[in-house]
Amino acid sequence: MSVTTAPVPSSVAPDLGAATHLSCRECGVTAPLGPFYACVECFGPVEVAYDYRRVTRDRIESGPANIWRYRDLLPVPVDVAETPNTEPGWTRLLRADRLAAELGVRRLWVKDDSGNPTHSFKDRVVAVALAAARQLGFAVLACPSTGNLANAVSAAAARAGIRSFVFVPRDLEPPKIVTTAVYGTTLVAVDGTYDDINRLASELAGQHEDWAFVNVNVRPYYGEGSKTLGYEVAEQLGWRMPRQVVIPVASGAQLVKVDKAFRELVALGLVDGEPPRVFGAQATGCSPVAAAFKAGHDVVRPVRPDTIAKSLAIGNPADGPYVLDVTRRTGGAVEDVTDEEIVDGIRLLARTEGIFAETAGGVTVAVLAKLCSEGLLDPDAETVVFNTGDGLKTLDAVSSVVGPVGTIAPTTDAFHALGVRA
Ligand SMILES: *Cc1c(COP(=O)(O)O)cnc(C)c1O
Ligand SMILES: [Zn+2]
Repeated sequence: MSVTTAPVPSSVAPDLGAATHLSCRECGVTAPLGPFYACVECFGPVEVAYDYRRVTRDRIESGPANIWRYRDLLPVPVDVAETPNTEPGWTRLLRADRLAAELGVRRLWVKDDSGNPTHSFKDRVVAVALAAARQLGFAVLACPSTGNLANAVSAAAARAGIRSFVFVPRDLEPPKIVTTAVYGTTLVAVDGTYDDINRLASELAGQHEDWAFVNVNVRPYYGEGSKTLGYEVAEQLGWRMPRQVVIPVASGAQLVKVDKAFRELVALGLVDGEPPRVFGAQATGCSPVAAAFKAGHDVVRPVRPDTIAKSLAIGNPADGPYVLDVTRRTGGAVEDVTDEEIVDGIRLLARTEGIFAETAGGVTVAVLAKLCSEGLLDPDAETVVFNTGDGLKTLDAVSSVVGPVGTIAPTTDAFHALGVRA
């Protein structure tokens, strides 16, 4: 007899906690909870809807110090914290006074998601996707990835004891290849861009019924994991809203879901005040959403990425139009920065705050600086900037511009001959 994990029969309703159904983001048509990601009526993207009656500040505060403290706001079983997972979240929110002084703003914080188990924010979305995928009867975890998702999927699958398949562009940064393959996943390098690989993943998802491609066929559940970044920022500020947030944009899902989180907190009466102005950050070498924002367009025209910020290199971003909606509705903007500015952003954050960001963090900090100098950001309003990944994964971005002041013999004379001053 075969002992492979059988998909849950469709007559058994999945236990997805407070989630009640799926709803189309375009036309509002509803569907039962299941492995659906496109509306049957209009092919628009669907999202998870909930019954939030259980949610209180007390229930959240008595939860674990990870994303599962927000389980009543996620499509996961109530006992999710008891199943094996990498327990991402509750990363540090650091006051950034030295960076603030350099940029001429008054109150600035860094939400530092490099502290997650595989050192990027992707652990959040993967943990939620995995918990939902189990309930939906999937046996295998998979993804197309620009790097960080590959790390998160392979580590989460290893810890859960299930198989995983990860597809990445062949020109990915070597550290991200190693930090994926080490977990024992089946890693496939593809001769193509992320957008090519995304298409391949959709086709494979159609052929392998028990594979959960976290960001493709279980994307509605995956996306909800990003809300925890917004919940954490508000709770860590003492159940308060910042006035402005600056968030990197690849597919745009993170930015859109963080805004959703802020609006939920207000609607549920957990936090007073208004949701913040949301600013999006892209690399100029892959800035289709910034270009549409600046041109006043509602549609995002795909581009072919060419930037050192590979984790943000999605030329055809699925949530691009929703990023435009959110940034326009909240009075924010989408701005982009060059590769040189990205390197400066990485060095600025490291030099002022002791935080070594990957290229995506460099994009976000550099965009913050640009928004300040353009006067688009209110310097007196409390601002949170997101660092979503760790600089150790993208060392090449800065390895040629930083290093020792010299190499010397182990003598005091040799040191003094360097002429460095205190
Ligand atoms: C994936 C990723 C993002 C953005 O994710 P989207 O939700 O696709 O916009 C931001 N930062 C890092 C480091 C990432 O890996
Ligand atoms: Zn629809």
